[in-house]
Amino acid sequence: MRIVSVIITVIAVAVINLGCDSMVKKDAVALTPPPVIDPGQECGQPPANAIVLFDGKDFSQWQSPESIVWKIQDGYMEVARTEKDKHQGIQTARGFGDCQLHVEFATPSEVIGEGQGRGNSGVFLMGQYEVQILDSYNNPTYPDGQAGAIYKQSVPMFNVCRKPGQWQAYDIVFRRPHFDAKGKLVKPAVVTVLHNGVVIQDNFILQGITYHAESPKYIAHADKLPIMLQDHGNPTRFRNIWVVELPERN
Ligand code: MG
Repeated sequence: MRIVSVIITVIAVAVINLGCDSMVKKDAVALTPPPVIDPGQECGQPPANAIVLFDGKDFSQWQSPESIVWKIQDGYMEVARTEKDKHQGIQTARGFGDCQLHVEFATPSEVIGEGQGRGNSGVFLMGQYEVQILDSYNNPTYPDGQAGAIYKQSVPMFNVCRKPGQWQAYDIVFRRPHFDAKGKLVKPAVVTVLHNGVVIQDNFILQGITYHAESPKYIAHADKLPIMLQDHGNPTRFRNIWVVELPERN
């Protein structure tokens, strides 16, 4: 009887071990190593898997270049609106959903205007959700409209603006909203923003489109839409813009 008991115990242990082994194997399959990506030699430069949207040379990655009134000089592009030639900004030729976006910008070194009239531009993810660009260096305005705000929705945690005319950077991680077949929101957009390397928005859940004068709301749209840079009438400059498309997550 004792021998039978020992045999049963040995078999039970073997089965358990077998189970553990198969679990390990299953986990190992799930934990596929990520792709190896060359990050480049300097911080802020596009990694090997980035799509370079602007390298200081041309508007080839931007839509309708013949109608763009922005200008390129000395490796940057600049808002160049005139009163008779009003424009609503420029947008990328291709659409993006989940992404990491790097944008460098400089508000005008000559300080003209105040509040929202000083160095105003913006990065519109999917053309709808604005990360505000503003000269917020000693320039009070409503906090959810200052540099790094998710416009009219979220005040940045810190004001890390450099002086007017100095180059600055946004690094943005964006997860797009999801809608069902009937256009109902099933998952809101989420955004994280680093301003000059400092986290100022941490996984903020967007309430919808970042309107100026009305409450935010979602309107169903495609999975990928162009990124837009705002023309707000201030000659803001841009350089070194690149984007990495992120694998979607469930
Ligand atoms: Mg703006």
